[in-house]
Amino acid sequence: MSRPIKIGPLKLRKHMLEQTCDECERKATREALFEAEEFLVIHRYCDKCVLKASYEIPA
Ligand SMILES: [Zn+2]
Repeated sequence: MSRPIKIGPLKLRKHMLEQTCDECERKATREALFEAEEFLVIHRYCDKCVLKASYEIPA
C-alpha cells in the first residue's frame, strides 16, 4: 500500500462527464496521485474517501 504523493481538487476538463468516486458512488471532488513502480496513477475520490486513499501496487 502506498499513500498518495499528492492530493488536489479534481480538475474537470471541458466536456468531461461528471466523475464518480473510485470507492463509492458519490461525486468525485478530489484526485490523488500515486507513484507506482515506474508510472503515476490518478484516482478520483469524494471528500470522504480521499481521507483513506491508498493504492496497492498490483503484484
Ligand atoms: Zn467516495
